[in-house]
Amino acid sequence: MMRSSYPMRAWVMTTCFLMGLLLQPGRAQTPVPGQSQQTPSMSVNFFSLQQDREIGAESIKVADKELPLVGSRVVNTYVKTIAARLALLSPLQSIQYRIQVVNSKTISSLTYPGGTIYVDRGLLELASNDHEVAAIIAHEIAHAAARHGTQQLSRQWLVQAPASILAGLPGNAGWKDQLQSLGISLSPHPSFLRYSSNQEMEANRIAVQILFKSVYSPNGLPAILEKINGLATAESRVLPAYVYDHPQGTEATQQLNSEIEKLNVVSRVLNPALSFYSSIPL
Ligand SMILES: [Zn+2]
Repeated sequence: MMRSSYPMRAWVMTTCFLMGLLLQPGRAQTPVPGQSQQTPSMSVNFFSLQQDREIGAESIKVADKELPLVGSRVVNTYVKTIAARLALLSPLQSIQYRIQVVNSKTISSLTYPGGTIYVDRGLLELASNDHEVAAIIAHEIAHAAARHGTQQLSRQWLVQAPASILAGLPGNAGWKDQLQSLGISLSPHPSFLRYSSNQEMEANRIAVQILFKSVYSPNGLPAILEKINGLATAESRVLPAYVYDHPQGTEATQQLNSEIEKLNVVSRVLNPALSFYSSIPL
């Protein structure tokens, strides 16, 4: 409820301003090969970086308890090694990146605010080489670095309860009550982790820059996305969860190819496919 002491005119003007911020698409950054100049999108975010960490920590408690995780040391070492290499190249270094492999055939991945990534085994099995696995992980690191999760939370919050924002941003302990009042729960797959197409394009831009500076090829990203989109356009009636959560439309595909063309990517030898997954029971 809006506080009666707040002038109506100022409330309307401020709400319009905030809505305008939300409707503004993420501002495109012109990448410079080899330079870490990516910045988060211009979309509004009412949460602090510390709250990203706190929301992530709470989410992990739920996810680790409810999601079946792959226990294989071989798989975990493989994935965590790639993630650690890429995390060092993230434009946001003040959060802790962490990765878990979910023992599910679903084609899905998601990243909580604060940097914890969950990749489904089904998505990893779709990758043909290390470059494509790295591309999946780099894209998720990019979502965390750009703080897309709490951007989406801010969007939901503003649409559902703008007056409560004007009454005061959440304190360090207040975000839980705010989310609860909006009916947003920290389930293993919360609604705020479905990104917009602008956020996807930004994540792709950042991921390409991370991959370009790494030992992995940026070409792994369009390669794995093409496979995922191929599943969506095939006869299967069920859309892969990845397509639902990470909408990669025609514009995103064109922009991704354009970003890579700007980089003079040297062709790199592809490592063998990941055959060891087949030995892990579901
Ligand atoms: Zn995405």
